[in-house]
Amino acid sequence: MTEQAIEIEGLRKTYAGEKGEPPKEALKGIDLTIPQGSIFGLLGPNGAGKSTLINILAGLVLKTSGRVKIWGFDQDVNPRMSRASIGVMPQELNMDPFFTPRGALDVQAGLYGVPKSQRRTDEILRMIGLEDKAEAYARSLSGGMRRRLLLGKALVHNPRILVLDEPTAGVDIELRQMLWQNVRKLNAQGMTIILTTHYLEEAEQMCDEIAIINHGEVVIRDETKKLVARMDAKTLVLQPESPAPADIPLPQGVELDRRADGTLAFGYSRTRHSPGEILEAVRDAGIRIRDVNTEEPNLEDVFLDLTRAKPAA
Ligand code: ADP
Ligand code: MG
Repeated sequence: MTEQAIEIEGLRKTYAGEKGEPPKEALKGIDLTIPQGSIFGLLGPNGAGKSTLINILAGLVLKTSGRVKIWGFDQDVNPRMSRASIGVMPQELNMDPFFTPRGALDVQAGLYGVPKSQRRTDEILRMIGLEDKAEAYARSLSGGMRRRLLLGKALVHNPRILVLDEPTAGVDIELRQMLWQNVRKLNAQGMTIILTTHYLEEAEQMCDEIAIINHGEVVIRDETKKLVARMDAKTLVLQPESPAPADIPLPQGVELDRRADGTLAFGYSRTRHSPGEILEAVRDAGIRIRDVNTEEPNLEDVFLDLTRAKPAA
């Protein structure tokens, strides 16, 4: 059996309502395990509960009920060890403007009880590309530099698990690439990575496994490849030799989209129809085909399918 980096059972969080607001049930009984060594993606629309979950893992938000084990350490039984096992790069850019990057890393290391002799401040500064800004005041740093510093702070105690909450939301391409390079390198060295992202393409490229969260519940969790493969919808794209006739009789359930580039895109369910059937119908309509392509669903399709227009409970 795979060793688990994170084990979550029946996790609930209800925020007390502020100023006459009703209480908000942000997590409604989450069960989730995340294997050691993986790059794991947490996806979900805004307000789904991703940050709440991550902040509970980080020890920044108190859970209402449920069990959380980090690297085998129960948060309630062994809070110190579970906290030492995880480093979190938060979504928000909250930063003390009076610290330099070097100072901020040192303070963070102190908070985690890392002895001076074991600090890797220079190594981390190099990794996040802030060596030449080591002594600059935080308020003079750009947004991108502050984000890199947040990554550095998450790493000072050399945690087994690194959690990144929307690390690339609103950052430029250069910083995004720098972040992903670092993430892949850390993962190759054995660090387990958990990330949330809005960019589904990014999750598809980066993550071995994915859990989709909606309205405080895990709606699906699987290997990224399998998630995408289990989508039933497929598209067959044909390029006709000459403009296609207006009427093309098709098997029931097959939908035709006439694209601006002159191609014919047939949407069909893989379990109910075969591409051969569609090709036959097209030939019967007297259409000669120059080129044939298929389009696979991507993670975005899966995501939309699972989170679309479900009424809030
Ligand atoms: P996500 O990160 O997926 O966008 P969050 O975990 O931030 O979602 O929020 C989940 C739900 O909990 C939202 O409805 C949000 O408004 C609510 N929420 C988050 N933080 C608080 C808080 N401190 N007090 C009250 N409600 C909160
Ligand atoms: Mg969030």
